[in-house]
Amino acid sequence: MSEKTKAELEANKLMKRLRHAVGDAINDFGMIEQGDKIMVCLSGGKDSYAMLDILMGLKKSAPIDFELVAVNLDQKQPGFPTHILPEYLEGLGIEYHIIEEDTYSVVKRVVPEGKTTCALCSRLRRGILYRVAKELGCTKIALGHHRDDILETMFLNMFFGGKLKAMPPKLVSDNGEHIVIRPLAYVKEKDLVRFAQIREFPIIPCNLCGSQPNLQRQVVKEMLEDWDKRFPGRIESMFSALQNVVPSHLADPELFDFKGLQRGQELPHGGDTAFDKEEFKAPSKVISILDSRSKISEPQGCD
Ligand code: SF4
Repeated sequence: MSEKTKAELEANKLMKRLRHAVGDAINDFGMIEQGDKIMVCLSGGKDSYAMLDILMGLKKSAPIDFELVAVNLDQKQPGFPTHILPEYLEGLGIEYHIIEEDTYSVVKRVVPEGKTTCALCSRLRRGILYRVAKELGCTKIALGHHRDDILETMFLNMFFGGKLKAMPPKLVSDNGEHIVIRPLAYVKEKDLVRFAQIREFPIIPCNLCGSQPNLQRQVVKEMLEDWDKRFPGRIESMFSALQNVVPSHLADPELFDFKGLQRGQELPHGGDTAFDKEEFKAPSKVISILDSRSKISEPQGCD
């Protein structure tokens, strides 16, 4: 088989995988309904380009009608290449809006030198996007966070926030006016990196603002990447855990009525067994990865 054919096959397989993952997330969480007008937020990074590309593909074959509108917020960071997104979006023939708001100056003025600016910048950006969604009459706002962003957020909340909380695939905005969806919730970042290479998206660098990256997030990201290399299947299992929550085996009295427990009461997820292979309801995909790697020797202890 020629190299070209191999590359085409790989690209087709990847495209199918991405479409399935996005289609499953849309179905599982009821992300898109008949008549929706979805504002697809584009930053110029690989994730949002991929999200738009996949949603446009799904729209063609979807059994329901919905509209897509691409929106980019030009935050006036020095050196932001203003021509890239309009040229790309013109080529796609999709309705798009570039919103110009100088949040860069606000952030620079308010945040002390040397401190990370991302928290304020994101809050300002989110507020503007909500306003624009309302002006455009959009019913949903689509953000390009993927599976690995969701897991990273879960660990950040556990490590630094004392909460078992990740990033929801679908939520109501703080002002209650919008539904925010994350159609890439089931998509691996690795697949998005490859997809961006294959599609040759005109990526806009994300360091134009000169902000320091969020170091804690970076550390968690590296930890997950390391686990993924050393313990194949672990990331899949962890994400699966987010979808198999057992309140009776956690310790939050608001989620489970521990005080009201009665002798003889049957718990929906079993009683005394904290970890039991039979109880482990990982998807078959995860189990087959784990089984195929069971001969790999893992370091002793709890890492
Ligand atoms: S990296 Fe820059 S543009 Fe992005 S959120 Fe942080 S401050 Fe804002």
